[in-house]
Amino acid sequence: MNSTDPSITAPAAADSDSSSDTDPTNTDGTPDNSSNVIEEPQIEAAPVAQYHINKAYNVVPNDESISKKVVLLTFDDGPKEQDMINGLLDTLDNHQAKAIFFVNGYRVKANPDLLKQIHDRGQIVGNHSWDHIDLKKENSDNARKQVEDVQEIVEDTIGERPRFFRPPFGSGNENLHKIAEDNGLIYMTWSNGSLDWDSKSKNKPDVVIQNVMDQLHNGSNILMHELPWTVEALDELLTKIEEKGYSFVDPRTISEAP
Ligand SMILES: [Zn+2]
Repeated sequence: MNSTDPSITAPAAADSDSSSDTDPTNTDGTPDNSSNVIEEPQIEAAPVAQYHINKAYNVVPNDESISKKVVLLTFDDGPKEQDMINGLLDTLDNHQAKAIFFVNGYRVKANPDLLKQIHDRGQIVGNHSWDHIDLKKENSDNARKQVEDVQEIVEDTIGERPRFFRPPFGSGNENLHKIAEDNGLIYMTWSNGSLDWDSKSKNKPDVVIQNVMDQLHNGSNILMHELPWTVEALDELLTKIEEKGYSFVDPRTISEAP
């Protein structure tokens, strides 16, 4: 029984006054049958602010009614390669997890399609500066440009500006906090480093998993990178985190401290 609102059926399929239409198919070429598959309208509720980042860069709930047993997943230094992005996105989807991808401007410029995929598949884009340099060593104008040029290219590519900023190497100062604030960016480093960037982890997914699990705590802000062994580690890592009773915080529910 198909008693649906015709306004959400396929275009033209429900037109009853098209007397000039002698073709059995619709004008758009789709077959005119009565068993149209009706898709539920995809209305996403606006994310509600539930969490903030504290001084130790942990994710903490805004009030006691919200679970504190959460972790934040982040992936820095991309977007680099299609295969790795696919791997990360597929695994995140399999665990219904959202993450922040902290991107560099020069990589976005080289791989705009990868940034679009990250965004189109519901993941969150963060700002990791243009060149991945130590911003503490730059003068104020250069540091500001490193941040703001990324805001621009991300907006030009996906239609919205990042809400989160992480300085390369976690290296910042008062001026950088001010620049982030001026751009409406929530500043963070991390509180659980996977050490996937360390030579001891190279090609060793098990070491990446162990590093994160050894440091796992409420509100862990987990730093990972777009690296092959991290892509390989991710499914098992997320399973282990879930088995410990943690859930993955949706970055869209993170806002400025109340
Ligand atoms: Zn980085």
